[in-house]
Amino acid sequence: MSEPILIIGGGVAGINCALNVANYGTKVYLVDDTPSIGGMMARLDKTFPTNDCSICIEAPLMYEVHNHSNIEILTNTEVRRVRKTNGMFKVRLVKKAKFIDEEKCTGCRACMDACPASLPDEMDGKIGGMRKLISMAFPQAVPNKVYINPDCRYGRMRNKGACVGGCVVDCSQCRECPIALCVAACKKEGKDAVRLWQSNKNIDLEVKSIVVATGIKDAPAPPGLHGYDVYDNVITNIQFERLMNAGGPTTGRIVRPSDKKYAHKIAWIQCAGRGLAQGLPYCSKVCCMIAAKQTIITKEHDSSVETLIFYNDLKAYGKGFWGFYQKAKEKGVRYIKARPYDVSEDPATKNLTIRYEDLETGELKKEEVELLVLSTGLIPSNRNQNLAKVLNIELDHLGFFKERDPLMAPLATNVKGIYLCGGATGPIDISESVVQACAAGMKAILTN
Ligand SMILES: Cc1cc2nc3c(=O)[nH]c(=O)nc-3n(C[C@H](O)[C@H](O)[C@H](O)COP(=O)(O)OP(=O)(O)OC[C@H]3O[C@@H](n4cnc5c(N)ncnc54)[C@H](O)[C@@H]3O)c2cc1C
Repeated sequence: MSEPILIIGGGVAGINCALNVANYGTKVYLVDDTPSIGGMMARLDKTFPTNDCSICIEAPLMYEVHNHSNIEILTNTEVRRVRKTNGMFKVRLVKKAKFIDEEKCTGCRACMDACPASLPDEMDGKIGGMRKLISMAFPQAVPNKVYINPDCRYGRMRNKGACVGGCVVDCSQCRECPIALCVAACKKEGKDAVRLWQSNKNIDLEVKSIVVATGIKDAPAPPGLHGYDVYDNVITNIQFERLMNAGGPTTGRIVRPSDKKYAHKIAWIQCAGRGLAQGLPYCSKVCCMIAAKQTIITKEHDSSVETLIFYNDLKAYGKGFWGFYQKAKEKGVRYIKARPYDVSEDPATKNLTIRYEDLETGELKKEEVELLVLSTGLIPSNRNQNLAKVLNIELDHLGFFKERDPLMAPLATNVKGIYLCGGATGPIDISESVVQACAAGMKAILTN
């Protein structure tokens, strides 16, 4: 076995990179700073262009990684310091406390059932998704263990209903929590896995190369545009993805946030805010196919639902993508080449009226819909800036990691031995992420 390799980011790119490297007999540390590996793909419903179930494809790989003798997964873990000496990288990681003994937790969820307090889920909040203060990242999480919201400690969630029983003791003076229902529920299951006073742990590694696979984030809705901040029934495309998902907050029912009634007419606005001061200055490549996918699946749920896509450019760049767009049209999706300029709400019905310029006729028109989805695009991980400093590698002007040469060395960085793959390099789809992951893994193995 050669010297180990560190992969930062456990999305579909990091996972594929890890499996390829490990299958060559090289030890891999796969680090993710969230409580589970899986990345964005684990939160999707189906995947274009095949419309296969996203988690059904990814979960077996996540478990393969988990069970691979050459791979060590470190979740909730940040890369704090990296120094290169004698051709090797000395790495300091910090494993942030999950407040759980992961050896003892079996993922039975008794603690989650017992927890009295919930907060809106960071991704699903607008469509009603709530998360207990002790929770699992998602049902198929790897490792399949719970974690506790750090804010739950020291009584900071008292006003959210977390502390029941009226305890008045200053939490910082206490080593046990006599009122924590999660502790009691866990003990009742005979496990005693909750560790409310667990601290962060430093881990030091020495690796010969590093692959950065820190992925993308869904862009927030541009402030003040198309009524997202104002009207309940304007959501983003990741929120729509979660609405369609049987594992999402509505168990797959495509209902409106305002009244939880099924939406019968839904519009998508593509490139929401692109080119405007509030929006992204670039094309995110995948949104056209995401909208096509979401309309096809909506029609599969209920063919009577009317779906319209307001678009300006159309990107169908990948294999099978043009056929996928044709399939959406065959299903009855209306593509309207348009520039939407105003969205207003009927306060009684909460329906939305979209006013737009028809770019084919030049006429000003309007459409009333029950739900509006904004295709907001992909942005870099918000942790890239910090990681770039730690690794001493460069970011491009958009905040993605900069390739040493976009044509001839697209997976290399300015530091020998540090490579890139997947969304860390820019907006990308799953199959391209996997291709890059395999190539970056091979480069990491061959580094000398
Ligand atoms: C709404 C929506 C729908 C989509 N639908 C499709 C589809 O149908 N088909 C398709 O091909 N593509 C689709 N995509 C694109 C797809 O999600 C991406 O191509 C894919 O997730 C990229 O994988 P990745 O591993 O590079 O990044 P991610 O999936 O983003 O994973 C990155 C991982 O790195 C971790 N991380 C980030 N920063 C750090 C750090 N500093 N330290 C440690 N860990 C870190 C994150 O926690 C995450 O787990 C969709 C995207 C969106 C937003």
